[in-house]
Amino acid sequence: MKKAGFSEKPQNSSSGSGDDIPVALRDTPDTGSKLRVQPLVLVIGGLTGFVLLSVISGFLFFVTAPKKTADSIPASTGSVPAPTNSPGIDSNTILGHLAYAEAPESELLAITADGRIKMRQAAAQKFQAMVQAARSAGVILTPISGFRSVKDQEPLFFDVGAQRNQTPAQRASLSAPPGHSEHHTGYAVDIGDGTVPATNLQPHFENTKAYQWLQANAARFSFEMSFPKGNTQGVSYEPWHWRFVGDRNSLETFYKARNLKPTNTTD
Ligand SMILES: [Zn+2]
Repeated sequence: MKKAGFSEKPQNSSSGSGDDIPVALRDTPDTGSKLRVQPLVLVIGGLTGFVLLSVISGFLFFVTAPKKTADSIPASTGSVPAPTNSPGIDSNTILGHLAYAEAPESELLAITADGRIKMRQAAAQKFQAMVQAARSAGVILTPISGFRSVKDQEPLFFDVGAQRNQTPAQRASLSAPPGHSEHHTGYAVDIGDGTVPATNLQPHFENTKAYQWLQANAARFSFEMSFPKGNTQGVSYEPWHWRFVGDRNSLETFYKARNLKPTNTTD
């Protein structure tokens, strides 16, 4: 009985209708849930896609941004090399003195009667013209030193430095190391005042008539002072040391690829 009744209940009432109703109910809810799920899926998918897109675009931007940074760094580095170029020049520099090649023997001309002092041809001719012009103005320009070989420079730097108890750095403020003297080029000349030889190679040469005449006229003969006061090379003031810059080779020798106006070398 119980079983039958029990079993009947389901059969009679609920089960059948129960099945039907639930189906209908399920259908509605199912479709409803499907309909709800689809928007959710769309929303979630859209969000996911959006997130992915932003992640990707962010990544792309990130990838791009570093490139820009990298570019800008090289750019700034590129602008730095300009200053670096002068340091590049510094690779040819010792203690503030730039490297110079020796003038070929065949290009040298004597500027003194005894032939002891020589300069490169173009410079020698202009120097002699300058001496004559000065003389006609009552000023005696006396050449003290012109072309000097690298070998000539060695004792001037090392031996004299040792005699004077100077370190290379101390010596370099007064004299160029071998291979780094403007005198190697044949374009440089140390000039004295023939009437006041005591001022030879001395800073107070600047008080002589010779120096004053040079200051006023040397450029007419394409000569300039290499080491004025406060020169960027840090070489000591040398009012007696002048260099020829009147042709292409001399100009390039002293100025090409160099930011420094004054060049190296000393007495
Ligand atoms: Zn000199």
